[in-house]
Amino acid sequence: MKKAGIWYPYAQMKNLELNYKVESAKGVYLQLSNGQRLIDAISSWWAVIHGYGHPELDQAVTEQLKRVAHVMLGGLVNEPAERLAQKLVEITPPGLNHVFFGDSGSVGVEIALKMAVQYWFNQGVPQKSRMVALRKAYHGDTTGCMSVCDPEDGMHALFQDILRKQFFVDAPNCAPDGKTDDVEADVRKLESLFQAHHQEIAGFILEPLLQAAGGFNMYSPVYLKKVRALCDKYQILLLCDEVATGFGRTGSLFASNQADITPDIMILGKGLTAGYMGHSATLATDKIFEAFYSDRPEHAFMHGPTFMGNPLACAIALKSIEVFQREDYLKKIKVIENILKTHLLSFHSEKVKAIRVLGATGVIEFFHKKDLKGAQDFAAKQGVWLRPFNTYLYTMPPYIISEEELLKVIEVMKLWVLTQY
Ligand SMILES: *Cc1c(COP(=O)(O)O)cnc(C)c1O
Repeated sequence: MKKAGIWYPYAQMKNLELNYKVESAKGVYLQLSNGQRLIDAISSWWAVIHGYGHPELDQAVTEQLKRVAHVMLGGLVNEPAERLAQKLVEITPPGLNHVFFGDSGSVGVEIALKMAVQYWFNQGVPQKSRMVALRKAYHGDTTGCMSVCDPEDGMHALFQDILRKQFFVDAPNCAPDGKTDDVEADVRKLESLFQAHHQEIAGFILEPLLQAAGGFNMYSPVYLKKVRALCDKYQILLLCDEVATGFGRTGSLFASNQADITPDIMILGKGLTAGYMGHSATLATDKIFEAFYSDRPEHAFMHGPTFMGNPLACAIALKSIEVFQREDYLKKIKVIENILKTHLLSFHSEKVKAIRVLGATGVIEFFHKKDLKGAQDFAAKQGVWLRPFNTYLYTMPPYIISEEELLKVIEVMKLWVLTQY
């Protein structure tokens, strides 16, 4: 038996080795207690988009601390939350005018699912209560979220019998810049499901353009555009989970922008607070909001995470967005994408199943899980923090990464293929 203490995530505790203790971090670098310095090539689960210890973000925290660290949103107004809601309405696709805060991505998704179901309930159509999701989807680890993750490969297969039964459709095969034929084939699968079951379906939830933790599947904005039209045709709400894709990861501020669509509900997390603390925002259109806005108390949305609208989190998010826009991060992301395309997509090896790049995301897919055994320690020895999972070795670096640092990350990923297994 191990000594009492932290129960670590996604790990068999019996085999877990903990060799990396972080003492401090600055920019893209993690400073370990053993004196080593690692480039964090995955932005602490994709959240630390400005790198660590960004002076302006640090200052935003300290200034907010002098005023108030936390105050409930139940009946009390705070300025950072008010301003952040305004800002999010301004920068997200047009029509998303209402912001419900939560304290993590999973909670943001739960809020979105509950909102979609109650939308139909309030309209007097309670039979529309199930969700459609994509295979290879990942939407979080709480029970509502688990029910819309890939039912077999999504880590949560064990719980299938206790989760709400949702509908699943094959993950889109159409590559980001692929042929329209492929898009049509993907869309047909979705339409036949909608046709058969729309009377029971409240909404369709997806990760736009990039299915992240469920397998780094990247697909065409044309699919997304057609999904929007199909959802309208069959009266199904469209829920875009932009927890991973939001704030630039796929090359535009939000992935939805590339298809020029407005989802009915959109979820933001991870990069929202730049990795400083957990927070999420679930945005809804007027159409959704108005279904709750009535003289009947039972039409109200009965939800309220303790830390929703936390002033520190909102102050950080506001500063993060300000820096993102002022310093033209979309340009930085374009540079990252070009480097990834030049140096990763050109790489070929029979040991590799596929290589994909979209925005500031690059992934090498292997044939077998065992092909990545030891890859994390190997990369760390070379000065790079990677956390491969399943058959994926990937990078999602902080956007402030320099060309030289990014080239090093790519080099280490390739070196693993060339020399190690
Ligand atoms: C990470 C993630 C979540 C869950 O966010 P947490 O903050 O870990 O709860 C939900 N959806 C997507 C697409 C994610 O990548």
